[in-house]
Amino acid sequence: MSIIIDGKAIAAEMRKEIKAEVERFVSDKGRKITLAVVLVGENPASQIYVRNKIKACEEVGISSKAIYLGADVTQSELELNIKNLADDKSVDGILVQLPLPEQIDEKSILKLIPTAKDVDGFSEENIGKLCMNEDCLVACTPNGVMRMLEAYDVEIKGKRAVVVGRSDIVGKPMAMLLLNADATVTVCHSKTTNLKEECKNADILVCAIGKPKFIGADMVKDGAVVVDVGINRDENGKLCGDVDFESVHKKCAYITPVPGGVGPMTITMLMYNTLKAASRR
Ligand code: NAP
Repeated sequence: MSIIIDGKAIAAEMRKEIKAEVERFVSDKGRKITLAVVLVGENPASQIYVRNKIKACEEVGISSKAIYLGADVTQSELELNIKNLADDKSVDGILVQLPLPEQIDEKSILKLIPTAKDVDGFSEENIGKLCMNEDCLVACTPNGVMRMLEAYDVEIKGKRAVVVGRSDIVGKPMAMLLLNADATVTVCHSKTTNLKEECKNADILVCAIGKPKFIGADMVKDGAVVVDVGINRDENGKLCGDVDFESVHKKCAYITPVPGGVGPMTITMLMYNTLKAASRR
């Protein structure tokens, strides 16, 4: 039976520390910290994410500036909004909730966010620095995973880590963080031909695929550390991860649950990045 990594508890502890740091910042600098959140359209999941981000800001004492734009917004209107936030000295961090509507060129919008305010860690400069193992704003979800492993004293150095998923926001930065922490890293994706064997080799297996209960016990090595980034609905509409928790948790040493695992860490790392962005200005 495995140890369940309690992301909710780690996140709660971190939020207390961030709140204290934010209070210190406000009293030292005599100004508040502000995160701007841009939501375009009415995607229900995005609305929930934005609401939770604003709630987390309140919890740690960061002020939030929400900008809601209609789904029919034009590229130039959205660009103008981002440019204004980029120039606004009272704004420390800018987050554009993805996905954006089809008529919008997402990449060129994200490029308008200055590196110093890029609290999602998506900018070319932040990603480049991550690859060079230099201090930067790191993508929240993978950075949250590292904090979870650290909280449970999971040894990374010299271990064989397998990341399933190669998205720019999770899989790739996750692989880079593990590599920077001296793991031997393999990245798998939909074209990987021997996925089961690759996964079975992993001392640390991180799953960021987006397929409910895709990773079964037959794909996991005895005593592995399993991190489940996926957020999906199962056949009954219940929230579940990419890992078949029921079978896998009997076999591995550590596992993150869904919900209550990586999810709460992501928003906490956003608060962490916003504080960091403010402190560096
Ligand atoms: P994504 O952009 O859709 O990427 C999914 C990745 O999984 C792709 O690289 C894809 O390979 C790979 N993949 C798909 N099917 C596969 C298969 N059968 N075998 C092997 N690899 C396969 O997704 P994402 O944004 O990284 O998110 C992944 C999951 O994490 C989703 O469930 C998402 O909701 C969740 N998520 C959770 C949090 C959190 O806070 N917990 C944050 C972000 C995302 P190709 O590149 O070859 O297509």
